Amino acid sequence: MKEIRILDKTFREFIPEETIQLRIEQLAKQLNKDLAGKDVVFLGILNGAFLFAADLFRRINLEARISFVKLASYEGTTSSGTIKELIGWNEDIRNKTIIVIEDIVDTGNTLERIVDELIIRKAFEIKIATMLYKPEAYKKKIPLDYVGIEIPNDFVVGYGLDYNGYGRNLPSIYTLIPE
Ligand code: 5GP
Repeated sequence: MKEIRILDKTFREFIPEETIQLRIEQLAKQLNKDLAGKDVVFLGILNGAFLFAADLFRRINLEARISFVKLASYEGTTSSGTIKELIGWNEDIRNKTIIVIEDIVDTGNTLERIVDELIIRKAFEIKIATMLYKPEAYKKKIPLDYVGIEIPNDFVVGYGLDYNGYGRNLPSIYTLIPE
């Protein structure tokens, strides 16, 4: 098995590029079928989902738009401390079918924050597409409509996902080897 080193950690190849691409092909086929005739905006969540969003969207053969937002943390004045704000909106999503494109759903906190915002902005319908999903870690009830691959509750990098900013350009997904 292929091993790589990123900064101070070692990772083992876990999901090869071909498997990822094959799965995206299948997801795109399903989306093309399900979304026919709808007014659709794909919404990629930066930074992690940029590769998945690109690979998925290029296989969508419908009239659809794509936009990106980013979750930014800032120190709020509330007692809970850090607040995550979604920045970069440049699309009117009112009455549209929104396909949220996520790199990975872990606890679901990020996803919940995004879905809440989409509801406030009056999306007509919200569907979730995520490349990776950790069912053991998921704590929310939001249904995940399009899941690429389910993985165990381990730390992974590659295909958009980083370790301290590195590893996003790896075409395969790697899992951390515990020390
Ligand atoms: P959640 O809010 O669902 O707990 O986590 C979602 C975010 O946490 C993802 O968008 C991603 O940025 C980060 N994340 C969760 N699990 C992993 C992982 O295994 N590896 C990396 N690199 N990031 C992860």
